[in-house]
Amino acid sequence: MIVDLRSDTVTQPTSGMLDAMLSAHVGDDVFGEDATVNMLESMTADLFGMEAALYCPTGTMSNQIAIKVHTQPGDEVICDQTAHVYQYEGGGMAFNAGVQPRLLAGNRGRITAEQVALAINPDDVHKAHTSLVCLENTSNRGGGSCYDIQDIQHIRTVCDNNNLSLHLDGARLFNAIVARNESPKQYGALFHSISVCLNKGLGCPIGSILIGNQAFIKKARRIRKVFGGGMRQAGYMAACGVYALKNNIIGLQQDHENAKEIASNLIKTTFTEGILPVETNIIIFEIAQPYQAAQIAAALKEKNILAIPISPTHVRMVLHLGITSEMVAYVIDTILNLQV
Ligand SMILES: *Cc1c(COP(=O)(O)O)cnc(C)c1O
Repeated sequence: MIVDLRSDTVTQPTSGMLDAMLSAHVGDDVFGEDATVNMLESMTADLFGMEAALYCPTGTMSNQIAIKVHTQPGDEVICDQTAHVYQYEGGGMAFNAGVQPRLLAGNRGRITAEQVALAINPDDVHKAHTSLVCLENTSNRGGGSCYDIQDIQHIRTVCDNNNLSLHLDGARLFNAIVARNESPKQYGALFHSISVCLNKGLGCPIGSILIGNQAFIKKARRIRKVFGGGMRQAGYMAACGVYALKNNIIGLQQDHENAKEIASNLIKTTFTEGILPVETNIIIFEIAQPYQAAQIAAALKEKNILAIPISPTHVRMVLHLGITSEMVAYVIDTILNLQV
C-alpha cells in the first residue's frame, strides 16, 4: 500500500466516474456542440449564480485566460506573494498577458482590503496601471487557509471604488465552501471571475472551469482558443466534472477531518516544530532542528508514505478522496513510531 499525500491531484478516477465519462454525449465543442461540456458549463454557472462558464483543461489556463481578459499589456496585478498565479504558473502573467505582479505580504496567503488599497498605483505616467486583484481561496502555500467572506467583501468594495476587476483562483474553492459552510453563490456575487479546479479534491483526471458574466466568458472563449485550449469532443472529460460536482463535494469534509486527525498526531512527534492551522485538506508542518524536511520525507517514503518537502524546513501533506480511513490510521501509527 502506498499512501500518496503529495497532492490532491494524484487521485485515480473511480468506476462511477469512468462510467459517466464513457457514456457521455459529445460533439465538437469548438462549434459549441458538445452537450456534456455545455451541461457542465451551465450547471457550474447556475451553481455560482453567475451568467456563464467555460471548461478549460487546467487551472493554470483558467487563471491565465482570466488575467488576459481583465488586463492590458503593461498593467499591474495585485496578489499575495505566495499566490499560485505568481509562483507556479511559469511567469505566465508576463508571458501571456504582458502584465506585472504587485506582490503583497499576506497572512497565510490572504491579503486585506487595506493592503490592496495601498498597493493601487496613482494615475501617474511613471506608474503601471493597476487593473486587477487576484485572490486565492483556499491558499495553497497558506496551508489550505480560508478567507473570511467579509474580508473579501471589503476587498470588492476597494475594487469597485477604483475600477479594478477581482478574480478568484478557486482551485480549492469547494474545500473552503465546505469548511466554512458557505454557498457557491456567495462567491459568485463577489467576484468578476472565478476559476475552480476539477482535478484536485474533486477527483477528476483533468479539468477546470472559469466562471463569469456573458461578456467576460465570450472574451475568455476567444483567448482559450488562442492559448490552444479549444478542445473538440471534450465531453468525455467534462463528464467527470459533472459527476464530481454531483458526487464528490460531500467527501471533502472527510478529507478535512482526516487532515486534522493526522495533524493532531504529528504535533506529538519530536521531528515536528509546528503546524500551520489546518483548516481544510492541507497540512504544512515545520520540521524541528536538527532534522531536515527532505530527511523526514525520505523516512516517510521508506514506509510508503509520500509527502513533499516544500522548503528545507517544511513538509506538505494533502488529503484527498483516494485516502481511506485505514490509510489515515497507518499514517498516524507510522509518524508516531518513525525512526529518524
Ligand atoms: C493546482 C492549482 C492551480 C492550477 O491548476 P492546474 O490544473 O494544475 O494547472 C491554480 N491555483 C492553485 C491555488 C492551485 O493549487
